[in-house]
Amino acid sequence: MKKQYAVIGLGRFGSHLARALYEEENEVIGIDIREDKVEDLQNDLSQAFIADSTDEDSMKSLGLRNFDVVIVAIGDDMEASILTVVLLKELGVPYIVAKALSKRHGLVLTKIGADQVVFPERDMGLRLAQNLMHPNIIDQLRLSDDYSIEEIKVPSDLVGQTIQALDIRAKYQLNVIAIRHTDEEVSIAPGPDYSIKNGDLLVIIGKNKDLNELSQKLK
Ligand code: ADP
Repeated sequence: MKKQYAVIGLGRFGSHLARALYEEENEVIGIDIREDKVEDLQNDLSQAFIADSTDEDSMKSLGLRNFDVVIVAIGDDMEASILTVVLLKELGVPYIVAKALSKRHGLVLTKIGADQVVFPERDMGLRLAQNLMHPNIIDQLRLSDDYSIEEIKVPSDLVGQTIQALDIRAKYQLNVIAIRHTDEEVSIAPGPDYSIKNGDLLVIIGKNKDLNELSQKLK
């Protein structure tokens, strides 16, 4: 079922987020204090409003408590970001996501009741660093400080080899839990005699240090 979202702050981050949610046919309203920002998005969202999100009456009149998720995408003006989250909390918004520019900003947002705090600049920087250092790691899901699941691209010279021949379990204490052939086609728990095809991504679970070692080896 499609959801209802409100995005407050239609800067670079907020506008891309709002458009992406709307393109997937959700109901999305955008709110910004600046008229030009609202005009830019007028035709790309369900509705866009000029309003100050720290103003209680304006926020009440928009009925934000009836939305599934409200995202506070104000960054630079930390005071406005914090006041907005406090107000949304008071209005009874069920799920508040807030963007933080610094660790301290993030801590405050969590303390005052944001359900989820995101750090887009930090996360994108970390992601790019990982991607530059390990270009064959396509995706990574951290399970804890020590363990992750990674999707690793197999170099072309290993095409035709079996999982058993790679000896990933004995050499690196890692387990291949799936192989992704395309976005739609996945083999779960491949047997040891599965022979690797061109373009296969290995989905591997194990300790971060062992995963790093393997990704270096497979470069
Ligand atoms: P980005 O880096 O994503 O562009 P900014 O912090 O520069 O983030 O932009 C956030 C947006 O939030 C701006 O368009 C700004 O006009 C808007 N904004 C700032 N304060 C308020 C407020 N009190 N109410 C509504 N919108 C606001």
